Amino acid sequence: MSEESCIFCKIARREIPSTPVFEDEAVFAFRDVNPVAPTHILVVPKVHVSRLSELSGDSVPLLGRLLHTVARIAEKENLKSYRVNLNDGREAGQSVFHLHVHLLGGRPFSWPPG
Ligand code: AMP
Repeated sequence: MSEESCIFCKIARREIPSTPVFEDEAVFAFRDVNPVAPTHILVVPKVHVSRLSELSGDSVPLLGRLLHTVARIAEKENLKSYRVNLNDGREAGQSVFHLHVHLLGGRPFSWPPG
């Protein structure tokens, strides 16, 4: 999928609507349109990367930044405990091929995940 047609690129460029919760020069975070928990936020890099397994070693700082952003948002959302989920590939549940981290909170979570 190209950057032009990618839905999360369009959301990060504010070309299609979302409910943003955080933005800086590298990262955009917005509420999931189909939440599976009372708090369900997606944190994405602004640069188009299709999935975790396609990241190069040069992108390690970007990954750290995404996770640090998740933790900052969780604090702002007053989440005492939360689940962080990253699906890589269709069989793992990835449906949008722009790297994204799910921040889920506001209810208990079981283990192992389904
Ligand atoms: P995944 O299944 O890990 O690829 O997660 C993709 C997530 O993107 C799902 O939880 C969808 O509900 C969410 N999603 C898809 N389109 C939108 C959108 N336009 N705005 C917000 N969330 C979306």
